[in-house]
Amino acid sequence: MKRVAVLGGGPAGAFAAEKLASAGLDVVLMDEKLAWEKPCGGGLTHKAYSQYPFLIDNSTPKRMITESVLAAPKAGEVTLKLGDPLLIYSRLDLNRMMLERAERAGAQIEKTRVMGMERKGAGWRLETAGGKLEADFCIVATGARNPLRDVGTQLTAPDTMTALGYYVQGDQARIDIQFLPDLEGYIWIFPRCGHLSVGICGKGEPASALRKRLEAYMAGRGISWKGASFYSHLLPSLDTKSWKHNRVAGDAWMAVGDAAGLVDPITGEGLYYAIRSGDLAAQSLLADVGGPAESTDRYRGLLRRDFAADLEFGSRLAKRVFLGRFLYASVPQRMVEFTRRSPRFAGVMQDLFAGKQPYLGLKRRLMRNLNGSLYEIAMSFGFGRLVNKAESAP
Ligand SMILES: Cc1cc2nc3c(=O)[nH]c(=O)nc-3n(C[C@H](O)[C@H](O)[C@H](O)COP(=O)(O)OP(=O)(O)OC[C@H]3O[C@@H](n4cnc5c(N)ncnc54)[C@H](O)[C@@H]3O)c2cc1C
Repeated sequence: MKRVAVLGGGPAGAFAAEKLASAGLDVVLMDEKLAWEKPCGGGLTHKAYSQYPFLIDNSTPKRMITESVLAAPKAGEVTLKLGDPLLIYSRLDLNRMMLERAERAGAQIEKTRVMGMERKGAGWRLETAGGKLEADFCIVATGARNPLRDVGTQLTAPDTMTALGYYVQGDQARIDIQFLPDLEGYIWIFPRCGHLSVGICGKGEPASALRKRLEAYMAGRGISWKGASFYSHLLPSLDTKSWKHNRVAGDAWMAVGDAAGLVDPITGEGLYYAIRSGDLAAQSLLADVGGPAESTDRYRGLLRRDFAADLEFGSRLAKRVFLGRFLYASVPQRMVEFTRRSPRFAGVMQDLFAGKQPYLGLKRRLMRNLNGSLYEIAMSFGFGRLVNKAESAP
């Protein structure tokens, strides 16, 4: 029987391990921390839980959020109803739940750090903090700070966002998203069970500057960070050019989740892509008829067809979404204004939040709705009343 070592036990590694073990493979998963509060909003979209219903059907504490408030400079704020709610977990709970599922499926779970890996015959010899271990195949799921240099995505500075924030006391029923001037990124407030996660992500700006922006925002909203625990982490956000040469698989290994750079470059959503890539890696390995080389090729093809081509296209849009201009104002300002004034445009935003609107079809949908949206916007500005008055004038 094939022995598969899964390196890292976040959502990507845990789900790959669960799938492989339930198909009868000999699976060992190693994580230096096992379940932990990984810096993360913990938000899962409709796309994630509709495809993987176990994310909802369990007794682990979680919240369903049905309202989001979007705000941008010069546009004020607008409330967006989420017909497909956002599901929010603490990462400690989500990771624990997924590791327990992997263990129940038959994976051996070990708390240890993987220090290095080298080829041995057609397989691998792994060096861990607890000793040596051999495997036929490796799933690399060590996250954005993957320390194993020869496997997984090679992230350079333009391929990452910095993400940082505070877990603070408090409760609210809604999510807040705040766009900021000249920032490729945004601030969020996510309500968790028992506390709020308030954070910022941004590209091309030092962590200290992002932290200042976040604290200014929190001070303005009367949110105190005194005594609150601070978090910071890397968020993969691949540059368009980097998608072309993204190192997601090689000789007897596949990388999944953040270790393969599989994060939405606009929203920062990574949990769905971690779980989905874990699933696709397992499917590729289980369909292994032509040997490991065929599995890795299959994995590359599946990723591309399933979502990587869409994320690559998203990376082309990212700068325009955060820093672009439309009708003499910033794109975020227009997004908030249009959401407020056009139900059709608000529908597009709802679908983007739910993960139901791929970036590849976005332009077509916006163009299709353009006339209707502009009509709705014009009417909401009072043009309707003006037209009616003009028509009824003698
Ligand atoms: C601040 C922030 C907010 C975010 N908010 C959201 C959100 O709301 N929704 C969303 O969808 N995504 C969000 N993301 C992205 C999301 O957190 C990641 O995409 C997701 O965690 C990726 O899962 P993973 O399993 O690939 O990696 P990880 O969750 O990072 O897991 C990697 C695991 O590998 C282990 N590991 C690493 N090196 C070794 C080693 N050498 N030996 C053994 N174990 C090792 C680690 O302990 C860890 O458990 C956010 C990210 C950040 C930074």
